Amino acid sequence: VDAGGASSYRPTMTASWTPPIGIPGGTDTPDLVVDLDVVESNIARIAKEMARRGVDLRPHFKTHKSLRIARLQLEAGAVGVTCATLAEAEVLVAAGITDVFVAYPVWAGGAKAARVRRLHELGRLSVGIDDEVAAGVLGEAVRGSRARLSVLVEVDSGLRRSGVGGPDDAVVVARACRKAGLQVSGVFTHGGHGYGPGAAEKAARDEVELLRVVGDALADDGFEIATRSAGSTPTALRSAMGCVTEERPGTYVFGDWQQSVLGSCAPDGVALIVASTVVSTAVDGQFVIDAGAKTLSKDRPDWLPGHGYIPRFPGALVARLYDHHAACEVSDGAARPAVGEIVGVVPNHVCPVVNLARSLTVVRDGRVMDRWPVDAPARNT
Ligand code: PLP
Repeated sequence: VDAGGASSYRPTMTASWTPPIGIPGGTDTPDLVVDLDVVESNIARIAKEMARRGVDLRPHFKTHKSLRIARLQLEAGAVGVTCATLAEAEVLVAAGITDVFVAYPVWAGGAKAARVRRLHELGRLSVGIDDEVAAGVLGEAVRGSRARLSVLVEVDSGLRRSGVGGPDDAVVVARACRKAGLQVSGVFTHGGHGYGPGAAEKAARDEVELLRVVGDALADDGFEIATRSAGSTPTALRSAMGCVTEERPGTYVFGDWQQSVLGSCAPDGVALIVASTVVSTAVDGQFVIDAGAKTLSKDRPDWLPGHGYIPRFPGALVARLYDHHAACEVSDGAARPAVGEIVGVVPNHVCPVVNLARSLTVVRDGRVMDRWPVDAPARNT
């Protein structure tokens, strides 16, 4: 798929774009079907490439929320796991996966104070930080514990979500961390501004440059900066170089329609498909499937038409989502499925889709091998 320039871009849907996942007979829909061969090959590909470059891999848990898949990643060489919430970290640590980085500016006040402390005492936790006051609150939460809690200062490399803007602010936050009794062990950034047609190359350069400048400023100020961590699926292979010591991609493990359009995932790298049944063809010009917003989520970047892609019916646009219906528009003469048929949808963004599910149907060669739980569904606190 040609990602083209950002403004003029419209993805081309072609019949040749066909992920290899077969939907097993007897599937009760909607259901998330995961091809384990593809998962394993995605895991191995990135793990090998990071090993070749001497860059640590710390995959993000939020994509799959599956302990089984986290273990596959660790067995393939990942140094630990990244997550976004304390609740995800609690699931990991309780299962014995203890080297966990919460790559999020955790506000450790209220109920979170005791939870951070407990995770710190049980595991090998590190936490993101981008604020002086938050550093004080975090330090208070873990005060008196045996070891110092490791923190990584977050830097904004262009996404404009969280993270300090540059070296001066980073030094201020790092000094506040030191004063609060925290161990500043690195810097991190998320090149999420690489999520746009043709945007990944520059976002990756931004990540490397900011981690260099800010990491060096902290080192000059006397901090021992062991980790410079970058990460997103579109930028991971592009920024794993220079000063960068660690990458944290998550979505690469399953791929999705968005990654495919961006070129960060080949069609045969899509490992998860949403099996859904055509439940209505009563209204002209469309068919309706049973995977709505509560299955597919509503995440749609403005450069992507539709709420997913149906490889068997490339002319169909997943146009409108309701809680339990998706209306898929088809133009005159385009192939369309019959009521009762099961079709696979490649979701736009796989992470929120998994977050809404309870289990994954795991297949090899189109045959069901197992059903794996989503171990941390909706663990958003
Ligand atoms: N690191 C952080 C801080 C993130 O927010 C994310 C995703 O949102 C990732 C890593 C993983 O990026 P991706 O989902 O592109 O693989």
